[in-house]
Amino acid sequence: MTFQLSEEQLAVQQAARDFAQTELLPGVIERDTTQKFPIELQKKMGTLGFMGMMVDPKYNGGGMDTISYVVAMEEISKVDASASVMMSVNNSLVCWGLEKFGNEDQKERYLKRLATGEVIGAFCLSEPEAGSDATSQRTTAEDKGDYYLLNGTKNWITNGSSASVYLVMCQTDASKKHKGINCLIVERGQPGFVVGKKEDKMGIRGSDTHSLMFTDVKVDKKNRIGEDGFGFSFAMTTLNGGRIGIASQALGISSGAYELALAYAKERKAFGHKLSEHQAIQFKLAEMATKINAARLLVWQAASLKDQKKDFVKAAAMAKLYASQIAQEVTTEAVQIHGGYGYVKEFHVERLMRDAKITQIYEGTSEIQKMVISRELMK
Ligand SMILES: Cc1cc2nc3c(=O)[nH]c(=O)nc-3n(C[C@H](O)[C@H](O)[C@H](O)COP(=O)(O)OP(=O)(O)OC[C@H]3O[C@@H](n4cnc5c(N)ncnc54)[C@H](O)[C@@H]3O)c2cc1C
Repeated sequence: MTFQLSEEQLAVQQAARDFAQTELLPGVIERDTTQKFPIELQKKMGTLGFMGMMVDPKYNGGGMDTISYVVAMEEISKVDASASVMMSVNNSLVCWGLEKFGNEDQKERYLKRLATGEVIGAFCLSEPEAGSDATSQRTTAEDKGDYYLLNGTKNWITNGSSASVYLVMCQTDASKKHKGINCLIVERGQPGFVVGKKEDKMGIRGSDTHSLMFTDVKVDKKNRIGEDGFGFSFAMTTLNGGRIGIASQALGISSGAYELALAYAKERKAFGHKLSEHQAIQFKLAEMATKINAARLLVWQAASLKDQKKDFVKAAAMAKLYASQIAQEVTTEAVQIHGGYGYVKEFHVERLMRDAKITQIYEGTSEIQKMVISRELMK
């Protein structure tokens, strides 16, 4: 067992840190305010190889391991969690799902472009009445022989308006319950497919989250992932992997807030001393650093199990549960250490505190993570 990153992993970490500091940091407050993420920045992330990091190079990916991916996610999330959720959805839900379960034709037509960031993808499971209980899919895909007729509404879809490729879960045979669900690949611009309103969110405001409407959208059967009825299994397996990405996002938000608080405590004076010389502040920083280290070990353990092709389901759920929980605590303390300055945008920690909350909600709420963990424990 080693806790050291390899030279390659360190190089990825440095590249992500450089990109985050030089390209993401300057406009991050503006993106949070305007709720817009420039296409040029998204393309740059693709050019630098952040959008298909784990994809096999034969499909234009970076061929990297999951550790490299989580290390990059941490660095990017330290600065801009809106950029990292776009990256996480594309890497671990869309590309990983397609590479693992798609056929060669689908990989040629879609994965190759997604892995370079030429286009980005969206993962569409949630609906107005199907969130944690994803089995209650109301979006239907009627079997018409050579094609499916897709009807329904998806909610909360990350990359909703910027994606070109959408993996859409839908019910084909309700009598079979979750075994009647399929995953269809839908392209932007198909007749009957409309992108709905953009959500005005508490955090990750630079990311675009939309509802999507499908009315009699014709989807060729060659765009179904896996066998008939494989969609629910596809979604759950893909989300198991995705959780490692969101755990690393929560970790990055925490470490970003901690680094800002530490630097501030070393500068700011109160009662004739630097904040960092007051033991109460030192203890806060000690607790924050300990929690972050514990979260990092859980994230790396889950990533390492995945890389070894071992069962990582429980480890990924534990990593997400814990990293998202400490992200609330650490970012709140970071604001506290900044005092009044922590409450204004200029000092970044209030944004990180707002961004942290979503990590307890998407890709399975904390309650769902506890269900996953306890199911694994009872096996
Ligand atoms: C910004 C953002 C981006 C998102 N991006 C995507 C995306 O790209 N793709 C996508 O498909 N979805 C996405 N989602 C949706 C997200 O995954 C869901 O919001 C989440 O799964 C929770 O579902 P829900 O909102 O319907 O809450 P509900 O399922 O209604 O849950 C409400 C509360 O009840 C709790 N609860 C539910 N069932 C139980 C139970 N059995 N026991 C105990 N507690 C329970 C939940 O934990 C939660 O606290 C996104 C959401 C947001 C806010």
